[in-house]
Amino acid sequence: MQQTGSSGPKGFVVQPRRLPKAEASKRVQDFGEIIVKPTTENVEAQAGRCTDCGVPFCQNACPLQNNIPDWLGLSAEDEMREAWRMASATSTMPEICGRICPQDRLCEGACTLNVSGWEAVTIGSVEAFIGDTAFDNGWVEPIRPLHERAESVGIVGAGPAGMAAADRLREQGYQVTIYDRHDRAGGLLMYGIPGFKLEKRVVQRRIDRLVDGGVTFVAGCNVGVDVTLDQLRDKHDVVLLAMGVYAARGLSVPGCGPGDTVAALDYLIHQNRRDLEDPENEAWHHAKGRKVVVIGGGDTAMDCVRTAIRQGAESVVCLYRRDKENMPGSAREVANAEEEGVHFEWLGAPKALMSRDGAVTSVRTARMALSEPVFGQRRDIHVVPGGDFDIQADLVIEALGFEPENFAAHNPELALTDWKTVKVARFGQPGAGFATSIPGVFAAGDAVRGASLVVWAVRDGQDAAAEIDRYLRTRTEEVAA
Ligand SMILES: Cc1cc2nc3c(=O)[nH]c(=O)nc-3n(C[C@H](O)[C@H](O)[C@H](O)COP(=O)(O)OP(=O)(O)OC[C@H]3O[C@@H](n4cnc5c(N)ncnc54)[C@H](O)[C@@H]3O)c2cc1C
Ligand code: SF4
Repeated sequence: MQQTGSSGPKGFVVQPRRLPKAEASKRVQDFGEIIVKPTTENVEAQAGRCTDCGVPFCQNACPLQNNIPDWLGLSAEDEMREAWRMASATSTMPEICGRICPQDRLCEGACTLNVSGWEAVTIGSVEAFIGDTAFDNGWVEPIRPLHERAESVGIVGAGPAGMAAADRLREQGYQVTIYDRHDRAGGLLMYGIPGFKLEKRVVQRRIDRLVDGGVTFVAGCNVGVDVTLDQLRDKHDVVLLAMGVYAARGLSVPGCGPGDTVAALDYLIHQNRRDLEDPENEAWHHAKGRKVVVIGGGDTAMDCVRTAIRQGAESVVCLYRRDKENMPGSAREVANAEEEGVHFEWLGAPKALMSRDGAVTSVRTARMALSEPVFGQRRDIHVVPGGDFDIQADLVIEALGFEPENFAAHNPELALTDWKTVKVARFGQPGAGFATSIPGVFAAGDAVRGASLVVWAVRDGQDAAAEIDRYLRTRTEEVAA
């Protein structure tokens, strides 16, 4: 929609929203990011669309409370270095969140321009540009604490929550060690989220900055197996648990036995390892020439279907039991998948896996229908009698979500919630408290929230670091009951 010639509240000509995205037919040929790096002029024009409406709904909708209108204004005036200073004050990963936040549900969803029919400012893209420009120009300050402190913090998990906490704690001069069972740091940023949303070099430069600033990574260390939580407590003044949630929910239908399906995360890890040029392993899954059915409707399912398209699958179907409007996945990712050739089978629930000679041939599917809407309630679903049908498949990927692993095994005194996540003192309350039931042990990110978003993990990591700093200075804390 061309909308030139109209005046915005600031009195300048309102530009249309432009988010340069590679053509679907081109972008499916590799695993590079699909958002094309904008030019400075394009960023200035897009940032200049901000009307500085006075009530920063975008900022309120951002989990980090980023000063969006301010850094948009600076970007519009090509004051990129100052924009960077402001963006990095509230976030330890602006260039990462700018790429992978579901902005349609967060900052951009709240942009005032939406209400007046002008389409939101491309906030995420401008944020990523500010961060990339800072890295390219050497404006990203190395971590050089003013004073070294003797106290040490051990962090379990090198995902965004652990990395954000490490960044802030090391800046304060603490001795920080991160333990991770993977061979690389980054958590789901490195091994879950595909390159077409977030290239690995972008994650690696953040890791490099932490290492350069004196953070120690201990890779290949499975806490609970190679070292216990109690041993880490003896070794460090504080331990932060930031180990995410990794127990995949499984499909339970007739005909589904071990080896008949592939777990979404295994599938994505294999492709991410290829992107990282790890030596190919014959056990790695690949969709080339196969009929792929991905079961699930969240962002993990979207990542799997789009990966299968890029691997050259013969057909790719996303099977979800509700309709498009009720999908948990971001509308933006669903649209990307549709553009790339994924077929969505809405209102379909797997009923059985059909096999021949021990190999899966199709997914028997029940047709579902939504119940009548009731105000304030999520619409229920029920099976349509006689509506069963088969979807051909020789690669079935389960993307049904994740739950916490058995955290209680780390220490029976570690209090858990009803959802088996780690219980902390004041979750979700102002000045949130991240102390667990064990003195000196804190927790952050998905391990506390359940499967969530990178931006919330970053927020938690930063807030937990501030709380750990207070604790180490005063040795007082409010533990989870
Ligand atoms: C496929 C996929 C795609 C996603 N896409 C998006 C997206 O586009 N945008 C978005 O905002 N969010 C997305 N998410 C969600 C997001 O990745 C998570 O919310 C976020 O990474 C949580 O951060 P975290 O640091 O709490 O945990 P994680 O990133 O999971 O990191 C935890 C780390 O702890 C390590 N660990 C676990 N147990 C142990 C142990 N016992 N010992 C040692 N180390 C351990 C793990 O190896 C891992 O490195 C996606 C999630 C998935 C699965
Ligand atoms: S961190 Fe996410 S929600 Fe906040 S401004 Fe950036 S893209 Fe928007």
